[in-house]
Amino acid sequence: MRVNLLLACTECKRRNYATVKNKKNTTGRIELKKYCPWDKKHTVHRETK
Ligand SMILES: [Zn+2]
Repeated sequence: MRVNLLLACTECKRRNYATVKNKKNTTGRIELKKYCPWDKKHTVHRETK
């Protein structure tokens, strides 16, 4: 089952990315290092609903 979700920067709390995850093979919360245009650097982005 695929679920749409948003990835929010943990530093500025802005939601910068949309992605999908597969609930079957993804457990827990997703954390990804992505470029934040607001912080102008790579930060950890965490899934939100
Ligand atoms: Zn940020």
